[in-house]
Amino acid sequence: AASSIAAERNSSAPQSWLDARISAEQRADALLRTMTLEEKAGQVSQQFMFGKYEEFAPVVRDAKVGSLLFVTDPAIINRLQKVAVEETRLKIPLIFGYDVIHGFRTIFPVPLANAASWDPKGVEGAQAVAAAEARSAGIHWAFSPMLDVARDPRWGRIVEGPGEDPFLASALARAQVRGFQGPAIGTPGHIIAGPKHFAGYAAADGGRDYDGVYLSDAQLYNVILPPFAAAVQAGAGNVMSAYMDLNDIPAVGDKWLLTDVLREQMGFGGWVVSDANGTKNQVTQHFARDEADAAVRSIAAGNDMEMSFGPAASASTLAASVRAGKLPEATLDRAVRRILVAKFKLGLFEHPFVDEAQARRTLADPAHRDAAERAAERSFVLLKNDGALPLSAGQHRRVAVIGASANSKRDMLGPWSFQYDLPETVTVFEGVRDRLGTAATVETAPGVQLKRNVPSMFESISIPGQAKPEPRWDTARSAREFDAAVALAKRSDLVILTLGEAEDMSGEGASRADLKLPGDQIKLFDAVMALGKPVVVVTMSERPLELGSVIERAPAVLHAWFGGTRGGTAIARTLFGDVNPGGKLPVTWPRSVGQVPIFYAHNTTHMPKDQGKRYWDIPSTPQFEFGYGLSYTRFEIGTPTLDTPTLMPGGKVTVTTSVTNTGDRVGDEVVQLYIHQRAGRASRPVRELKGFERVTLKPGETRTVFFTLDEKSVQYWNAAERGWVIDPGMFDLWVGSSSNAQTHGQFTVAGAARAGSG
Ligand code: BGC
Repeated sequence: AASSIAAERNSSAPQSWLDARISAEQRADALLRTMTLEEKAGQVSQQFMFGKYEEFAPVVRDAKVGSLLFVTDPAIINRLQKVAVEETRLKIPLIFGYDVIHGFRTIFPVPLANAASWDPKGVEGAQAVAAAEARSAGIHWAFSPMLDVARDPRWGRIVEGPGEDPFLASALARAQVRGFQGPAIGTPGHIIAGPKHFAGYAAADGGRDYDGVYLSDAQLYNVILPPFAAAVQAGAGNVMSAYMDLNDIPAVGDKWLLTDVLREQMGFGGWVVSDANGTKNQVTQHFARDEADAAVRSIAAGNDMEMSFGPAASASTLAASVRAGKLPEATLDRAVRRILVAKFKLGLFEHPFVDEAQARRTLADPAHRDAAERAAERSFVLLKNDGALPLSAGQHRRVAVIGASANSKRDMLGPWSFQYDLPETVTVFEGVRDRLGTAATVETAPGVQLKRNVPSMFESISIPGQAKPEPRWDTARSAREFDAAVALAKRSDLVILTLGEAEDMSGEGASRADLKLPGDQIKLFDAVMALGKPVVVVTMSERPLELGSVIERAPAVLHAWFGGTRGGTAIARTLFGDVNPGGKLPVTWPRSVGQVPIFYAHNTTHMPKDQGKRYWDIPSTPQFEFGYGLSYTRFEIGTPTLDTPTLMPGGKVTVTTSVTNTGDRVGDEVVQLYIHQRAGRASRPVRELKGFERVTLKPGETRTVFFTLDEKSVQYWNAAERGWVIDPGMFDLWVGSSSNAQTHGQFTVAGAARAGSG
């Protein structure tokens, strides 16, 4: 039946969609008019390609998919594309998507580390490199950036996002969309950005991945949605809906969220893809009756494409659902059209293939590796330093680099890289050895191993040609390795100790109930400290961990996240003072898991200075506040001055401050501006970040920094008014080097209480 409908529709169709001179929208409309219901259902279906070309070529030939994901080999991409554009009736090219999260071949620091650079320009550059590499291999679209504002480090995916603050997250959102997409969708060497997960995923109950989320509209509008709105304004072509129930409704089937909020309020014009199996999951979420119902409900809610393991429910059921009157054909058309518009804008009908030789050159570009090294350097946060850092090369003849991750390529990269054994990845040990050359003998030992209690779900994913990670040790070997590491420390005159998590301990499906250093790491730390040698600690983890005793006892602690391909080089350069760390925490660092969630922009106005009353067993303050990070030099930030004390309707206030490097080394400071509304129609956070700038200063140099406050800076979504509002009255402001900034000023918002603009 399908083929006779096809023949009929095709009979005299003028193929005007092939005319590249008319707009993408007109071309999509023309093509849509010739499509059968089955072809439309195929276009809205996307499948994971876990398997061989031979298994997927027939799926493409039968027009059962409009998109594939998880194929990264340009040769296979070209072969599948050839089937699509030569062997299907309408020759519609496939769009290939992939998790280009923090690099493609060249791996940049994990996203939370990129956020710690407080350097949107730098992050834009990193994602532009990732886009160039991915595009060269035939990838058209990144499931990225992940914009989930996260305030619970138990949640494993905190590593993939921008941290806890909507203002910083919004800046990073705009930067990443520009980095991925370039000035417009279809710019050569760029790919479509797909911000995710829409919306609220990071607020899972108990930090348990995929668990239900309860968020008030005020939290949603004021904290969760702003970075998505920023990404949409920057022109993001795609959005991924979230897995979980938001206030009891699966996000993928939530019309209010995907249509009213995302499209009508935010103005999103691209297409929405479900998360993996998200459409079908509505059945196990006890929402949809069966897969056919699930496919109808997600597409009707505004989720245009179904990402699926195995055949998509959409491909197999939507045509019948339309015929049975369960879904208006116009609703299906709306989704198909959005996907076709993207394919036209990308130029896929004109240029469906990639040049495999060019891809090899792009993926090997040494400039990309250098860019990753610079990004890593900018992401490190110096948590403590009593003067032990920077080290000086030549001062220590025997250097030990000890720790489970000290010489592990896999653990330099973090989640979503799957390239466990790439030759270009530099470990901490290798970085230190190369940095010191003949100045010292550098040796390494793991001492302990980091092992999850249950294997990561990614253990079963293997990318062809990649080495599998080494199996974990047994007890006998563990004891030997521990003793060997302590012995190495004993015969050395400097120990660089890495502590933290293995790469598979955070990311998807990697939540934790406690935040302690896993394994025997504290035992190793104690044993090394007991030797009385000079020790510096490098923490590598993708989330804040409980570091209490390490912070108290180690002379210096550098937090290096997961630095990517050149992480080891960047760590060595930082430890030995070639680079001065200037990163700042994009998340509050708790003392104890019991404080979670803990974040700086809380609403407590009651006894704000008396935080000791909150818990009687531990201090209520965090270990390190949001925005915190030390330097090898010192900075002084001046008192803020305002060009006008009053923010008039439609006006702005320019805040000016100075920052001086008062130490004796070149260094970076991130000057931060926070505000607070004293009274109004709602109780507002004690502080909110509203401006920041990272500056590099020579010793003795002073720079003037300007921040602009306007009505966007003071508006918020008000639960009682059910909309955006601006409250007139007094505001405090602070500038400084962290969210504890002490330098105070104030301004007034003039006029009557009014509506904001969203
Ligand atoms: C994750 C997404 C990811 C997708 C495709 C899902 O399990 O939640 O973030 O983009 O898989 O790999």
